[in-house]
Amino acid sequence: MVASARLQMLGLPLDCATMAQSVERIGGYLQTPDFHLVVTLGTEMVVRAQTDASFREAVRSAALVIPDGIGTVWAARLRGFDMRERVAGVELVQVLAQRLGGRLRVFLLGGAPGVAESAAQNLLRIAPGVHVAGSRDGYFQDDREVVEQIAASKANVLLAGLGFPRQELWLQKHGPACGVAVGIGVGGTFDVLSGRVRRAPRWMQKVGLEWLYRFALQPSRWQRMLALPKFAMRILTGGQDSVQAWPEGQATS
Ligand code: UDP
Repeated sequence: MVASARLQMLGLPLDCATMAQSVERIGGYLQTPDFHLVVTLGTEMVVRAQTDASFREAVRSAALVIPDGIGTVWAARLRGFDMRERVAGVELVQVLAQRLGGRLRVFLLGGAPGVAESAAQNLLRIAPGVHVAGSRDGYFQDDREVVEQIAASKANVLLAGLGFPRQELWLQKHGPACGVAVGIGVGGTFDVLSGRVRRAPRWMQKVGLEWLYRFALQPSRWQRMLALPKFAMRILTGGQDSVQAWPEGQATS
């Protein structure tokens, strides 16, 4: 398995993992019997974790924390760390499916009714070798019933698109009972995969402006956008302490 440096960013772990390294590490997790939480860390999530202790602990319990969020990439680079690229959750799901193919038995959990199903169909178009073990919308009350459904599906990867912090808290609490080796919080990925929400044009993604595109499409997200200047302020005023190497020997949970 490829090792990648782990940083501590405003108290949270963040792995300097490229797309290729992330896929390789997740592939490695599939060979073990244990549950591994994978967090796709966006800038808004870092801000939320500053005041939400249970969410912070969930992120700190993750086996892999991927830099999804241009702010996290910017902050790591500003403090001199070798953060090669942003790894967007929506892309990770597609690349995982293409590269790991038949090794994946995925369960898609989340989104409005029907969204996970059409996302699954489109995922199969991109990666026909993948086995879709099941799917279900994210507006449920009875956790136990959902856990039983996932366990019965024999999925090895659970994609949870329930929005943060719910998806990380849910995976941390129920992931092991679902019998999956990997649980990934994927936010609005199913909305994009199903074709309901468009991603920003490639050039905007490249220059780190995808957040602006999402804001333009859904102005109701403006309150969430306030997290971005808050994050930048904390990084800039926190000096070197705001981003540092993960303390050696310190467990993440
Ligand atoms: N969602 C859900 N159950 C809930 C709340 C939200 O399944 O109780 C879904 C929602 O339908 C959407 C996703 O969670 O598909 C969150 O998308 P958003 O774009 O807010 O996530 P982001 O990618 O910004 O984290």
